[in-house]
Amino acid sequence: MVELTKDAIQLIQAGQTDLQAVVQVTDIKPIGNQSGPQERFRLALTDGSQIQQAMLATQLNDFVKTGRVKKNSILVLQEYICNTVQNRKIIIVLSLEVLQLDAEPLGPPQPGPAVPGSVINPGAGPNGFQAQQGPPQASGGYQAAPPAQAPLTPGYGNPAPPSNPYANAAPAAAPAYNSGYGQANGGYGQPAANGFGGGGMGRGMSMGGMGGGMAGGMGGGMGGGYGQGRGAMGAPATAPQYSSRGPIARNQAPARIAPISSLNPYQNKWTIKARVTLKSDIRRYHNQKGDGKVFSIDLLDSEGGEVRATCFNQTVDKFYELFEEGKVYLITGGSLKPTRKEFNHLKNEWEIMLDNNTVVQLSMDEDGSIPQQVYDFKTIDVIENEARESMVDVIGVVETVLPTNIITRKDGRETEKRSLTIKDTSGKSVEVTLWGSFCNREGQRLQDSLDNGQHPVLAVKGGRTSDFSGRTIGTISTSQLAIDPDIVEAHRLKAWYESEGRSLAPQSISREASGGRETRKFVAQIKDEGLGRGNKPDYIAVRGTIAFIKQENPYYAACPNKVEGDRQCNKKLTPSTGGWACERCNRDDIPAPEYRYLLGVQLKDHTGGEWVTAFQETGEDIMGMNAGELYRLKEEADNTGNNIPYTNAFVNAQFDHWLMKLKVKEETYNDERRIKVQIIKAEKADFATESKVVAEQIAKLSRARTEVRAMPTAPAGAGAGAGINATGAVRRGTSQARARAEAAVGSVTAAAVVEEEEEGAVLRAEAASSAASRVTGAHNAHLVAVAGEDGVVTEAVAADTEAVVAGMEVEAEGIRERS
Ligand SMILES: [Zn+2]
Repeated sequence: MVELTKDAIQLIQAGQTDLQAVVQVTDIKPIGNQSGPQERFRLALTDGSQIQQAMLATQLNDFVKTGRVKKNSILVLQEYICNTVQNRKIIIVLSLEVLQLDAEPLGPPQPGPAVPGSVINPGAGPNGFQAQQGPPQASGGYQAAPPAQAPLTPGYGNPAPPSNPYANAAPAAAPAYNSGYGQANGGYGQPAANGFGGGGMGRGMSMGGMGGGMAGGMGGGMGGGYGQGRGAMGAPATAPQYSSRGPIARNQAPARIAPISSLNPYQNKWTIKARVTLKSDIRRYHNQKGDGKVFSIDLLDSEGGEVRATCFNQTVDKFYELFEEGKVYLITGGSLKPTRKEFNHLKNEWEIMLDNNTVVQLSMDEDGSIPQQVYDFKTIDVIENEARESMVDVIGVVETVLPTNIITRKDGRETEKRSLTIKDTSGKSVEVTLWGSFCNREGQRLQDSLDNGQHPVLAVKGGRTSDFSGRTIGTISTSQLAIDPDIVEAHRLKAWYESEGRSLAPQSISREASGGRETRKFVAQIKDEGLGRGNKPDYIAVRGTIAFIKQENPYYAACPNKVEGDRQCNKKLTPSTGGWACERCNRDDIPAPEYRYLLGVQLKDHTGGEWVTAFQETGEDIMGMNAGELYRLKEEADNTGNNIPYTNAFVNAQFDHWLMKLKVKEETYNDERRIKVQIIKAEKADFATESKVVAEQIAKLSRARTEVRAMPTAPAGAGAGAGINATGAVRRGTSQARARAEAAVGSVTAAAVVEEEEEGAVLRAEAASSAASRVTGAHNAHLVAVAGEDGVVTEAVAADTEAVVAGMEVEAEGIRERS
């Protein structure tokens, strides 16, 4: 027969937290919650002598819902917190075990308050602490504990077993207080001192008389002194230190660390220990009350509980600098408000408002039990069926990244946008739209990876679905992107992609944005890269100038008949006796054709020129008039002999700067295969966007240089001629090899390729150097010498831009080492 734990309720009320109390449920009631869909359950518990109200943490709701806990069940309370709400004690049950589903009622005859003055261990630390805590307590026994007696116990919790999270956290956290708060005392030092710091410490700082050396000394003693400081907290003799610092002091004593999942508005005191997984920028707003500012952080604790904490106005000043993404903090106090689900994807029905009474302390122990991030990934095929504007976490392999575009929003402000596609094991892919600063941070990194032939994994936390273009996912300000995160899902995806995913034909749940997949190319690349020769056309975007437009036959006479419902025939017409004839429509009495563009345009950029064809719409965009109008100008010229208006139409359309989206495809005419390039979209180049693209290219070169520096070793057989690898190889060689390579670099500014072993490296560096000199005959050429596997330099090729950067890097390094 199970026995209930004697006096369990009294002990818990008194602050006992590590008692595995066996109690019986005498009643269960659901509590309606107007602010959220999530219900809560209130239990009445008995230890055999009294009855106590308790609340189940929501993650335990299932116990009740599935009938595993019911009236008369006997439970072991494994983890719990006892709080005071409106002068009544309530136990929040965080974890429990069911000993017996059903039992005879073992409880006391009636509910009632605790017996005043009953057993309280005077040495128990928590009592002293609790008495400090604020509102008068209902429990007589509890109040009876004289604060003066309590604090003499060093350390905080009375039993303070190592498993007590507070006992662990506090000493470790103390040094953080020293360094972090000491520096920025003006900002937030004060509340922190109230909250956690030992008495002496807080005072020292406020006096301002502490020299640097002294502060250091105190810091050293902090760990040992902590317990005393804590004790001093409750002692009347030292209390004035705190009261002098304002009324907050009394309220800010730390509590046991509560799981985030247990937070609820019925608690008046809690401390959580959590990692900041996201820190937003400060956002300014304006409403009826005036101007304001706000920022938020997303918090994650060791049990996977997540919550968003928000600061407004003064608390922004107070906390913004303090919080750093990725770090762990102890946060005490704040009010809980219902989550606004449209902005907050975290699985918590509450958000925390940090206020002036909130105390925040950086935890120095880098608590490995708190993950860096938690995700609730949905596969792309599932996201396809999610409602629009749902918040989702998704992970996939990045297949394409487009350049950043500058978008003008409805309100006239400009923002940046960048689209990429990811694919996952469902075999489907989706377009992810990055907005704002994501474009140049993560977006650029992804672009760089793809440029290097890699396919990184991207995890999106808190993206929002949209049906803007089929089903797409967009970032919002609180979204988070992680590239190649070190999580199981990412590794699994990578393996899948290498084994089968890469070759799977993409099944996108997004509609391809109109011409949204082209990559930027220069004109010369059309030939150099043999575009259009594959099975499918190549789509590219080229920024260039229209150098010339053919004035002969810029349009053709098209059949205006409707076929297949609304579609126009558009077949080329030939003149006939009865008007115009159409082969397709099999008619020869068509009264008048519609003139449609078939415009031959020479598009040029700094790499060369290419004849491209513009059809109807793009022709109109380029000429600024429709083909019918141009035809009339031609008629006028023929009739009057004045062809100036007609010619001007072409001249005026030339020499503008365009961003052309081109379709490149090989076609066969009379057994001759020719590359046809068609303009599928013509837009006047937007200089802001174009500058951006160039800036990205420049940034990429700078980054390439940085990567060279960071590169620990070059891949084996670094003879590929890639400048970066070449430099890496140089760097890795012995000092002798390096000296020779530098010499080579010094003479021809080439990045020489050397391999690992000493002798060979020297030889190859020399060979590279002389080959480079030989080929250029000049001493300032940027060259990459390409070494074959046998170490013989077989060719020296003009370096691409990255190699040049690499070469410069070698040079710089050489100069640095020499000087
Ligand atoms: Zn026709």
